[in-house]
Amino acid sequence: MSDRILVVGAGLAGSEAAMAIARMGVPVRLVEMRPGRMTPAHRTGRAAELVCSNSLGGRGETNAKGLLQAELRELGSLILAAADEAQVAAGGALAVDRERFSAFVDAALERESLIEREGRELVELPEDGPLVLATGPLTTEALAARIQETLGEAFLSFYDAAAPVVLGESLDREKVFAQGRYEQEPDYLNCPLAEEEYRRLFEAITRARKHVPHDWEKLEFFEGCMPIEEIARRGYLTPAHGPMKPKGIVDPRTGKSPFAVVQLRREDAEGRMWSLVGFQTGLRWPDQKEVLALIPGLESAEIVRYGVMHRNTFLNAPALLEPTLELRKREGFFVAGVLCGVEGYLESAATGWLAGTNAARRVLGKEPVVPPPESMLGGLVRFLAGANPENFQPMNANWGLLPELKVRGPKRVRRKKKFERGLRAFREAASQW
Ligand SMILES: Cc1cc2nc3c(=O)[nH]c(=O)nc-3n(C[C@H](O)[C@H](O)[C@H](O)COP(=O)(O)OP(=O)(O)OC[C@H]3O[C@@H](n4cnc5c(N)ncnc54)[C@H](O)[C@@H]3O)c2cc1C
Repeated sequence: MSDRILVVGAGLAGSEAAMAIARMGVPVRLVEMRPGRMTPAHRTGRAAELVCSNSLGGRGETNAKGLLQAELRELGSLILAAADEAQVAAGGALAVDRERFSAFVDAALERESLIEREGRELVELPEDGPLVLATGPLTTEALAARIQETLGEAFLSFYDAAAPVVLGESLDREKVFAQGRYEQEPDYLNCPLAEEEYRRLFEAITRARKHVPHDWEKLEFFEGCMPIEEIARRGYLTPAHGPMKPKGIVDPRTGKSPFAVVQLRREDAEGRMWSLVGFQTGLRWPDQKEVLALIPGLESAEIVRYGVMHRNTFLNAPALLEPTLELRKREGFFVAGVLCGVEGYLESAATGWLAGTNAARRVLGKEPVVPPPESMLGGLVRFLAGANPENFQPMNANWGLLPELKVRGPKRVRRKKKFERGLRAFREAASQW
């Protein structure tokens, strides 16, 4: 194994990874193809360009992204330092002036003598590590093909067709009941709909506004991942004969089969997060919220991840990755950012820090680390490594990733306690790394 680490992609994840490695005294080669070759979303040659929104998420002690920000600050994160430096007023959110933000990251990488930058597209995967692959949602075709050859075709996805995910504790258990279709184990939760409730939901779906994708983001849908709004467009009863079919389901309260059903499948082994089966959607987020509130049992459901339909490149993390972000079958090969199965600027930076740190630890002969489960980064990487590989979809920071904490009181108080517990555990662990 070489003692210079190759980091591919100087986006949110790769920039953070390169800096984490250099700070551990290990030399880095940071390869980035822009501006020589651009992606369809980037506009500049700068490192850590924000391709869309200028917000790095909500701040504060009752916000899941706020906990991840606090953890990144503990680590002396480059991305968080840039965000703090380039901050603009945005109420409760950490928003930045995007030009100043990337200029700060670029200058910091330039100043670091252990980081050597190289402008080219990586088209071959090296035989040996150490390596941090952080080429993001718009990884070039040539490299994506090499990744598929190396890891197996089925393990790399080119689009995200995700259904909303809701927090288990926010479901109305008086209405929602556990039951499988036919003889299946009762792994599913069911939201039963009477005909009038179905009609209202159907009308809301057909009325809701769609997210308008860029030309290059437009997808050809396979039958298996058709968005619910497209299914509804085909006819009033099409959803009821498709993903909302009540066949095999009996509502224990009435002893009868409902008119239609929305099934929920667990996203994590503990059942803290549940996704709506067959409800992948590209509806705009405020409209998704309104639609979901019409489903019996989900009236007050907290959405931890909205449905999306867009181009994305990501690995099937649970089939391939350790929670250290190292490939199970290739020592010294680490993956970070959107490519490792997270979503969001902050999550990309945080996984970049972890992958970079662990790659450097391998070079230094130390064991890779995993943050504690009570921390947001710890919860996130444990989810990546432990989720169900069959339906894997990328994940962002949210409270459902953390173990329950038995405290009474309003949500704000419970969240604050989780925040304090997470940050305390994170600090304690980080002091040993
Ligand atoms: C259109 C779009 C909009 C998004 N909007 C948001 C948003 O508003 N908020 C949010 O939190 N998240 C958003 N995301 C999701 C995600 O958080 C960001 O894409 C984030 O930038 C991901 O960080 P990353 O480091 O994984 O990838 P990137 O930041 O994209 O970095 C990857 C880098 O790798 C380079 N690269 C790619 N292939 C090669 C190659 N073969 N050789 C060398 N270099 C290569 C790219 O040029 C790029 O600089 C969006 C994603 C997309 C695609």
